[in-house]
Amino acid sequence: MKNLLEVRGLNKAYRNFALHDVSFSLPEGCITGFIGVNGAGKTTTLKTILGLTPRESGEILFFGQNLDKEERAIKERLGIVLDSGGFYGELSLMEMKALAASSYRSWDEAEFRRYLDRFSLNPRQKINTLSKGMRMKYALALALSHKAELLIMDEPTSGLDPLIRRQLLDILREYMDRGGRGVFFSTHITSDLDQLADMLILIDRGRIVFQEEKDSLMERYRIVKGDAKELSDSVLPLLHNLSRTAFGFTAVTDHAEEIRKAMPGALLERASVEDIMLCQIEGGDRYAASAD
Ligand code: ATP
Repeated sequence: MKNLLEVRGLNKAYRNFALHDVSFSLPEGCITGFIGVNGAGKTTTLKTILGLTPRESGEILFFGQNLDKEERAIKERLGIVLDSGGFYGELSLMEMKALAASSYRSWDEAEFRRYLDRFSLNPRQKINTLSKGMRMKYALALALSHKAELLIMDEPTSGLDPLIRRQLLDILREYMDRGGRGVFFSTHITSDLDQLADMLILIDRGRIVFQEEKDSLMERYRIVKGDAKELSDSVLPLLHNLSRTAFGFTAVTDHAEEIRKAMPGALLERASVEDIMLCQIEGGDRYAASAD
């Protein structure tokens, strides 16, 4: 499978925060969720790989091309949705679109109009009068109207109501259906990824913890519930985020078979992306695994 993006050995330092040797790749045909708690370094990573903020070291290859040498050609092929937006609030949606469209050779006006209609956006409305959800939809309409091959979005679902979130997730699926494309999507709302993502990348305190196919993670991790009397020294190292209650215990494991053998009475259930994230990050053990 071809990689749409390869990041190798990326380092970047702010005064009180740094990205340490960040490396990952985005295969074609995948929706990749970039997960991590607030302040883990998601936005910093996205801005750095897009060349919007300088880096100390690291190689960034989009579509096999070096970002430093081919930035213009690469940006033509990317759809970018950042929280900051980069919009001029005084302009109407059509005026801002004219500015954005002028930088893309493959701008598709008919496609843009279809998205405005679908999202019920009024082309004459001023940007600074849009609600958060409308702004998100507008940014998405711009990002999807120039035949982008890789869509990069920073926290696109944060602050959106469930209806708009569902609509956004449907659009991402449709986008992927056309083939040869990819989506890279940062979020701390991991429930959006339970259904949608093919691949997950977890970042914690500026370091990549894992990059793995979601299905293989979901296959490996389980929530374990049982009687606290069964918790022996031999099973404790196999359990993450252990929480004890008056009725028993709940934990997460990536050693389901050993737990089944050692604790025949324990109940093993499917874990969520959130359970997996919390058991892999520093301090995540303060949060109990989903107990119900
Ligand atoms: P969130 O989910 O809250 O958006 P995040 O994972 O996107 O978090 P970042 O926005 O990348 O996290 O922030 C990581 C750290 O870098 C934070 O401690 C933040 O204060 C710091 N940081 C971000 N931008 C700057 C900047 N321009 N100057 C200095 N520090 C910064």
